[in-house]
Amino acid sequence: MKIMTPQNTDGQTTETSERRISVGISSCLLGDNVRFNGGHSHSSYCTKTLSQYFQFEKFCPEVAAGFSTPRPTLRLIGDPNAPKMVYTKDSDTDVTETFVEGYREHLTTLDHLDGYIVMKNSPSCGMERIKIYQENGHPHMQRTAGLFTQALMDKYPLLPVEEDGRLNDPALRENFILRVFAHHEFRHQVATSDNFHDLLQFHSRYKYLVMAHSQSAYKNIGRLLSNAKKQPLHTLKEIYFAELMQAFKQPASRKNHCNVLMHLLGYLKRSVSGGIRQDIESVIHQYRRGEVTLITPVTLLRHYLNQYGSEYVKSQRYFEPYPAALGIRSNL
Ligand code: SF4
Repeated sequence: MKIMTPQNTDGQTTETSERRISVGISSCLLGDNVRFNGGHSHSSYCTKTLSQYFQFEKFCPEVAAGFSTPRPTLRLIGDPNAPKMVYTKDSDTDVTETFVEGYREHLTTLDHLDGYIVMKNSPSCGMERIKIYQENGHPHMQRTAGLFTQALMDKYPLLPVEEDGRLNDPALRENFILRVFAHHEFRHQVATSDNFHDLLQFHSRYKYLVMAHSQSAYKNIGRLLSNAKKQPLHTLKEIYFAELMQAFKQPASRKNHCNVLMHLLGYLKRSVSGGIRQDIESVIHQYRRGEVTLITPVTLLRHYLNQYGSEYVKSQRYFEPYPAALGIRSNL
């Protein structure tokens, strides 16, 4: 399956890659019978929908550590800042070192990934809210990530990571998928380039998407690029990428979307009649009030900008940050 990216300068959708995007995943989410009870946690959204765009690379850290399937359940105990892994029914047997050894090597091989989907509630794979038990058997108030996922996030802090359960929430799903596609595009079109112009072009496409997520990041990045000569290109790219991914972690609010849509409407000032602009503006207000979903004003604006907009505005990734066929903006 080819990855489809937003429009080119003719307003046509283009193919920029023959590959699907590489995304790591907990093996049990693909239906592998690797869970402690010998079962799986198959995610049909991953295998039926996302698999059209993502090339999943599965990994089960408990199996990699040599634990049997089925196996006794595991839990985290001790210091919330440095939890240990033990068997739930045998907390004297510390299996932390065995577990860590099982993924240590694998963890060093993941810098080609653009995202990772992990299984919720697992002391190995969960991304958050994992209990850490005290000696008295009660959990600490403080929760954590599973040991493997924490190590993954520590080693690759900009990598988009999400839990399967949270992908059922339209806003969280949108945010994760947007970050995966942005991560992929930056790595392939900017990270490997020695040309400052590629970074500028990338930012030129992503400008309004950044604005939708964070006004402060929008300003910071603008300042960063206007002082570009103050640091070597590779440092500049690292700072830029960190700012970008941090900004995208913050879901775009309805208010920010409206702000961006009004800015984009401004590009039609000289080319369409006041009546048409008023119609578009009233659809933006409908979206602001929650009467229509985001896809409605975006589609309407894009229709007119494809005919009358400049190449700059037509190239904005804001219009299609991920394949439209995913239908994500119909639920926002
Ligand atoms: S949650 Fe992680 S450790 Fe548990 S079965 Fe799934 S992949 Fe393996």
